This record gives sequence, C-alpha cells and structure tokens, in this order.
Amino acid sequence: MWGIIATWRMAKEGVEEGVKVLRDKGTAGSAIEVAIQEVENYPLYKSVGFGGLPNEEMELELDAAYMDGDTLSVGAIAAIKDYANPISIAKKLSEETVNNMLVSSGAEKYAAQEGFERKNMLTKRAQAFYRERKSQIEPVELKPYDGHDTVGMVTLDDKGKVVAATSTSGLFMKRKGRVGDSPLVGSGFYADSKVGGATATGLGEDLMKGCISYEIVRLMKEGLHPQEACEKAVYNLDKELRERRNNAGDLSVVALNNEGEWGAATNIEEFSCVVQIENQPCEVYVIRNDNGKTIKEIATDEWVEKYMKSEIGYVDEEKWGKQ
Ligand code: ASP
Repeated sequence: MWGIIATWRMAKEGVEEGVKVLRDKGTAGSAIEVAIQEVENYPLYKSVGFGGLPNEEMELELDAAYMDGDTLSVGAIAAIKDYANPISIAKKLSEETVNNMLVSSGAEKYAAQEGFERKNMLTKRAQAFYRERKSQIEPVELKPYDGHDTVGMVTLDDKGKVVAATSTSGLFMKRKGRVGDSPLVGSGFYADSKVGGATATGLGEDLMKGCISYEIVRLMKEGLHPQEACEKAVYNLDKELRERRNNAGDLSVVALNNEGEWGAATNIEEFSCVVQIENQPCEVYVIRNDNGKTIKEIATDEWVEKYMKSEIGYVDEEKWGKQ
C-alpha cells in the first residue's frame, strides 16, 4: 500500500510526480523529494521556493525539512537564501549524524559544499508584489494567509516507510531571520513508520505552541484514526490558545497512517489538501471547519478555478511580471 497527502491545492502537480515514483516502487523519500521540488520550482506559487514571497527587507528566506520515519532522522534548514531546492538540502542533512539543522549562512555554506544549485529565488513578480503590499500596509501584526502557505507532505511507500517533509517561504513580510514551524520537527512535520506522519500549515507561531504534528502522530499511536487525530489536535490547541490568549492563529493539518488512511482538519473557514492512495484517484479536497466540525469534500471545478486565480492569479503581466 502506498500513498501521499499534501497541504493545499498547489501541491497537486507535485503529488502527481511523487505518485509516479511510488508506482514504480520507489521509496517514500524519493517520492516526497520530487513532489516537493515540483512545487518549489513552479514560479507562480507564491509561498514556496522560486517565486516565494520575501521578508520585510525584500529578501527571500526559505525554510524546509525532511524526516525519515524508519530511522527518525531529521534534516532541516531555515532562512536560507539563493538555493534552488531547499527540500533536497534538508534531505541531505538528514543523512548526517550531527548538525542536522542549519540556518542562514551556515545552511548556505553547507549547500555550497555539497554542490547544490545556486539560484536567485526572488522573482520580479515577487518584488512587485512586495512593493504593492508595502505601499498598502505598514504591517503592524503578523497576518496569516495574506500571501503564504506551506507545502507539507507525508508519503508512504509499499515497504511501509513513512516520510514527512515541508518547504515554505514562511510569512510574507516576516522579520529577517524569523523561523516558523515548518523546519521544526514535531511542529511543522513528524514521521514514524510504525504509526504514520503528519504536517501542518498556518501561523507557525501558534502551530509550534502545540507541537501539533508530533501530537497527531502520538494520537494515532494511541489508536486514533488519522481523521480523529487531526481533529483532536487542532481543536484542542485552538481551545487552549483561545482560553489562554484570547486568540488562535490559523491551524491546518494533514496526516496519513501506515495503512494508507488519512485525515485533515482546520480551524479556519477553508483549507485544501491533495491525496492519492494506491488504487484510488488523485483528489483535491476542501476541508471546512463548521463550528468545530470538520467537513471534507472533493473540490469542484469552480472551487479549483477560484483557488488558482487567488493563488497565481496576478495575471496582469505588465504589472506583476511573468515570473
Ligand atoms: N506555517 C508557515 C510559517 O509559519 C506558513 C504557512 O504554512 O502558511 O512559516
């Protein structure tokens, strides 16, 4: 039994690439790497890899991570600039015995030594978007979903190996050096082949308060179905945050267990994910939170069209540039 689950509709083309690897009996690790690379390389997705949105100083700092559910090895990079595929650097780091998480210039030095491709990841289009936003608002608080989302995935291969990984440009207009949940093990992602894996997207500052991905895997280990585990983790954390802080940021999660069962939950109005399990078609699901109840529906064509317009819909090329 193999399968992939990923956050957001933008992951679809990547999931299709990952599926090819799994169908050919490739490993969960190779599948997740090619799947995430595909999303990183696509210039019009504005929150991951090439074309991602910059920080407040108009620099594009990227975070990524990789976890092998067999060995529990983790590799992560944060605030790296000018490297083409952060996911591959994180994967490579997971093979080291120590120094598994590197940030900023340290991560760049490692990437250079290992021969990874250097690339200016900040596109003209992302710069135009930055200038437009800057002129509209002086950001006084972090506002999730004003132009950011993380691609997080969990893969399962036919040998029963589970891998989880993430890649993101983090919050648009974030402070230089800011690191969210995505490269933090247990918060943005977690994988254990004996159980399954989980990954998160939303406001990193709040997701990490509940180590939410680890919590989901822990709940699955106690015997919960991935759907129950996702809902419990999201709604509990949402409740705790509201009680203690009067406010909860956006929390959205997906999980896949080692039997190919999956789940997703959110505390926002609408979140999407892409799922393909062996012998089933690849589907985009819209996940809605209806007063603490999760509703999962296959995305309609109209929904996908609307999503694509909002995600990559800066179609005025004169204004935004082609890339
Ligand atoms: N969780 C990411 C971060 O806080 C952003 C996102 O997933 O939308 O960096």
